[in-house]
Amino acid sequence: MSGLPVTTADVIVVGAGVQGSATAFHLARRGLRVAVLDRAYPGAGATGRSSGFVRMHYDLAVESELAWRAFPTFEHWAEIVGEGDCGFSRIGFLQLVPHHQVASLRANVAAQQAVGIDTRVVTAADVADLVPGMVADDVEAGAWEPRSGYADPTGTAAGLLAAARRLGTSYAGGVAVQRILVDGGRVTGVATDRGEIHAPVVVNAAGAIAGKVAATAGINVPIKPWRHDTGYFGLPSARPGGPGRPIPVVLDNITTVYFRSEGRDLLLVGLEVGNDIGGDPDRPMETYDPEIVPQLAEKVCGRLPWMVDGDFRTAHPGQDGMSPDQRAILGPVGAEGPDGLYLQCGFSGSGFKTAPAVGEAMAEWILDGAPALAGLARFDLGRFARGDLLVGEHPYESLWR
Ligand SMILES: Cc1cc2nc3c(=O)[nH]c(=O)nc-3n(C[C@H](O)[C@H](O)[C@H](O)COP(=O)(O)OP(=O)(O)OC[C@H]3O[C@@H](n4cnc5c(N)ncnc54)[C@H](O)[C@@H]3O)c2cc1C
Repeated sequence: MSGLPVTTADVIVVGAGVQGSATAFHLARRGLRVAVLDRAYPGAGATGRSSGFVRMHYDLAVESELAWRAFPTFEHWAEIVGEGDCGFSRIGFLQLVPHHQVASLRANVAAQQAVGIDTRVVTAADVADLVPGMVADDVEAGAWEPRSGYADPTGTAAGLLAAARRLGTSYAGGVAVQRILVDGGRVTGVATDRGEIHAPVVVNAAGAIAGKVAATAGINVPIKPWRHDTGYFGLPSARPGGPGRPIPVVLDNITTVYFRSEGRDLLLVGLEVGNDIGGDPDRPMETYDPEIVPQLAEKVCGRLPWMVDGDFRTAHPGQDGMSPDQRAILGPVGAEGPDGLYLQCGFSGSGFKTAPAVGEAMAEWILDGAPALAGLARFDLGRFARGDLLVGEHPYESLWR
């Protein structure tokens, strides 16, 4: 007895994070027999630690379009997914950039508006209304998305997986994929610590571990673990805007901090800089780095001075796979490896909000040979060997430094 739920499938998905779960959902919707394997449990990786931003602002048009294609799933969860709850909170999203990037921000907003995204350029005066009590004297312009906000990443992954299972997908947790099986240049399945499962297609959605999983088939996927700790602070009850008013998602590339309300009483805070990049993705990482707490407090109080009356509650570490251009690696491995092996990894700290659309694109790749969003072909593994890295049309600097 292997303890595995099935021994054959049409597609094996390695990893039950939000990405693998989204692919399983879309493949199952199209009638495939999918087996999802996770060495731990759904949301055990980056997904369970994600800050959950749902926004469309990027400096690369195809990423904005991808996020926009994913957006209806968050807005209309019950109709589209019909299991669990993604916990979408429409509290608005504000992107701030330094002066020398304001022209890029304006151009990015115009391009996003052209595809229908609800976004506009706002001034420092607008910012004061949008985020009461926020210091904005160094802000020339920002991008405001009134319909954006955040969702619950674990709930999103669990809901997508539950919907996939409703449609016939098999799931096994606590099953580690040890090796991708290849015969005659084709994928034939995976070897796990509980036995083998055979399938002509394997999707590697193993998050920060995806490089190790790919290496078992002799493929070099150039991702490094990117560690990112986030903190939760209690909001003071007496604060500008009043206790009931949520603080929108603010991604501040000027002072390199981000924050948003978490429910009614907490503020989630993260830093854009100082994140460790590299190391073994399997290194122990149970607790947060205590040195992060004063840095988070100082940065957030720089923007929201009244947070001096807030209090630190807790923090947690997380990690994602970071690619050399800080963009995802998607699609068939191509000339680099065996037929039937697909990559869905390297999300570089940004792969939560796009997951529903990436999952749909992966299903299109597998079943139709190409995704409907043609620009995704540029996210292939081969771009690194070609030296054809993805760069925004109106670029900012690397977000994570
Ligand atoms: C702290 C933090 C904050 C973030 N904030 C945001 C945000 O606000 N918005 C946003 O869009 N993105 C954000 N991200 C990024 C986003 O969370 C990730 O890109 C996304 O969750 C990646 O999902 P995934 O399914 O690819 O990977 P993961 O969630 O890491 O899932 C991979 C799964 O694979 C499993 N696995 C690994 N190896 C094996 C194996 N050998 N066999 C079987 N299973 C295996 C793991 O157990 C894990 O469950 C953040 C990331 C972090 C760390």
